[in-house]
Amino acid sequence: MTDLERLRHSAAHVMATAILRLWPDAQFAAGPPVDDGFYYDLEMKHRISPEDFPKIEEEMKKEIKANHVFEKVTVTREQAIQDAQTGRLGGLGERPENPSKFKIGNLEDIPEGESITYFKNGDFIDLCAGPHVMRTGNIGAYKLTSIASAYYKGDEKNPQLQRIYGTAFKNRTQLDEHFKMLEEAKKRDHRKIGQEMGLYVIDTEFVGPGLPLWLPKGTAMVEELEKLAKATEFAAGYVRVKTPHIAKEKMYLTSGHLPLLYADSMFPPMELKEKSGASDEDVQRYYLKAMNCPHHHRIYAAEPRSYRDIPLRLAEYGTCYRYEQSGELFGLMRVRSLNMNDAHIYCTTEQFASEFNAVNEMYLKYFKIFGLDKYQMRFSTSAPEGMGKKYVDEPALWKQTEDMVREVLKASGINYVEVANEAAFYGPKIDVQVWSAIGREFTIATNQVDFAVPKRFGLVYKDRDNTEKTPLCIHRAPLGTHERFIGFLIEHYAGNFPLWIAPEQVRVLTLGDEEPLVNYAKAIVDELRANFVRVEGDYSTDKINGKIQDAEKAKVHTMLVIGRRDMEAGAVSVRHHGKGNVGAKPKAEVVADILAAIKERRA
Ligand SMILES: [Zn+2]
Ligand SMILES: [Zn+2]
Repeated sequence: MTDLERLRHSAAHVMATAILRLWPDAQFAAGPPVDDGFYYDLEMKHRISPEDFPKIEEEMKKEIKANHVFEKVTVTREQAIQDAQTGRLGGLGERPENPSKFKIGNLEDIPEGESITYFKNGDFIDLCAGPHVMRTGNIGAYKLTSIASAYYKGDEKNPQLQRIYGTAFKNRTQLDEHFKMLEEAKKRDHRKIGQEMGLYVIDTEFVGPGLPLWLPKGTAMVEELEKLAKATEFAAGYVRVKTPHIAKEKMYLTSGHLPLLYADSMFPPMELKEKSGASDEDVQRYYLKAMNCPHHHRIYAAEPRSYRDIPLRLAEYGTCYRYEQSGELFGLMRVRSLNMNDAHIYCTTEQFASEFNAVNEMYLKYFKIFGLDKYQMRFSTSAPEGMGKKYVDEPALWKQTEDMVREVLKASGINYVEVANEAAFYGPKIDVQVWSAIGREFTIATNQVDFAVPKRFGLVYKDRDNTEKTPLCIHRAPLGTHERFIGFLIEHYAGNFPLWIAPEQVRVLTLGDEEPLVNYAKAIVDELRANFVRVEGDYSTDKINGKIQDAEKAKVHTMLVIGRRDMEAGAVSVRHHGKGNVGAKPKAEVVADILAAIKERRA
C-alpha cells in the first residue's frame, strides 16, 4: 500500500466506527482502498442515502479528534472465531444476537498458519491485516462520495451489501483539488466525447455489453496507435506474430489460469464434439483467450531455440476477452473485449537488465509523445508469508528477479514506488500509472516478470555449454489496450487530439461553390489524401462561419479556408481547432507543414 492508500483505508475504519455509532446493527464485510479513495461494504436495516453523509461525517470527525491509536493485536484463530460469533469483530462491543457473519467468512479465507490480526481504534475492533496510519488524527481531510451495492466477495450467490464510498487526503487543499479535478473530468467524460465525435458505440442489443464497436473515426485512432507501436517495436528488435482468439482447455490448464486462478475472468467454454479416433467422439473445450501469453509461449515452443535466438521479442496487437461482471463495465475503461499492445520477451537472466531497461525507455518515449509529464511505476513485490500460496514457491527466484528489477529502476532514475505483497502469482509486476492533463490518475499498463510459466510450458533454449535452460519472460504492454488507452486520451486531450492522431485531421472549406474554387480545393484534398491524410472537403454554399462552426464542433484539427483571393495567390488560410485563424500561407508550405507535423507526431 502507498501512504495515501494507507490513509484512505484507515479512513474506512473510521467511517465504520461512525456508522456503528449511528446504526449499531451494521455488519461489515470488506473495506479496501480503491483508485480514488476507499469503500466499506456493509449490511444493516437502515438504507443509507446521501442525506446521511453529513451525519456520518460528523461522527467521523469525533473519532478523528479523539486521535485514537490504530492498535495491532495478533490473535489465534479460535479467539477470532469466538469474537466473530459474539459480534465483536467489526463492532464497538459484543453483539451476541448479531454475530459478525461476514468476518467469519473472511476468516475462512485466511490460510492456516498465517497470522490473524485485529486493528483497534477506540472501541472499534476490526479483523484486518493493515497497514494503517498511526492514529485516527492522521486522517487530514475526508468526504463520503457515493453509494452502490455489491455482493459479498463479489459473488452473485452471496447477500447483496451496501457499499459506501469515500475519499481522504492529507489535507483540505488536496481534497478540494481532487473534487475540482472530478468536475473537469465530467466535462471530459470519454463516453460523452466518444459519442459526440463518433468514435465507438456499445451495441448491447446485438453485440453485447462491454464489447465496443470501433466506428471509422475511432478506428483511425486505433490504427495510428498501432502504427506507432509497430514502428517503435520494429526499431527495438521485436518480431510480430498473429494468433487465434481461442485455444483448447489444455492451454490454460498448462498456464495455470485454469482450473481456478483465472476461471472467473474467462468466458465459459465452448464445447465441440470432435472425432479424436476412428470411432471415439469426445468433447473438446475451447476458451476465448483472456491473455495472449500462452499462445506466444506455444510460438516459442514451435521451434528449437538456442542462445543465439534470444532475446526473442514476440509482439502482437492481440484481442482478448475477459468476463467482467456487468456491474463493473464502464465505457471503454472496463470492457469484455480488449485489443492489447502486447509482447513477450524471452531472455536469459544476464539479458534481463538491458531488456527490462529497454522496455522502460519505450514507456518514456511514449510519455513524451503524449505529453504525459507525470507518471509513476508501481513496483509490486512478493512477501515471505505468501510463498507457496499467493506466490509460486521459488523464494530464490523471487529475490533474484526483484533485485534485478529494483536495480534497473534505481539506475535508470525512473520515478517508482515499491509496494510489498502485491505481486502477481508468477513474478513481480509493475503497474504504470499516468496522470491525465487534469491530474487524474490512470493505470494504463502492467509489466510482469515471469519466471514460472515458461517452465510450465517446458520452454527451453540450448545454451553455449549445450545445456537446456528456461528463459525468463517479460510481459509488457506500454500502450495498454486500445480501449483503455483511447478512453484515457479522450480525457487527456478533451477530444482535441494532436494532428497525427486526430480522427479528422484536415477539412478544406470553400467560400462558396464556384467551380474554379472547388477544383482548387479538391486538388488540395487529393494531394493530402494521396499522402494518407484524413481529410474531408466542405464545398457547400453555406455561410463560411457556419462551416467553420461545424468543423470546430467535430474537433477537426486543421481547417483550410479557401476564398477567391487565396486561390489567386496560390495560398490557403489556416485555422486550428480551438485556436482560430493562424494566417494565410502558400499552399505548398501548408501541405508540407501538415505532413511534417503528422510524421513527427507533433503535440
Ligand atoms: Zn484495516
Ligand atoms: Zn502476457
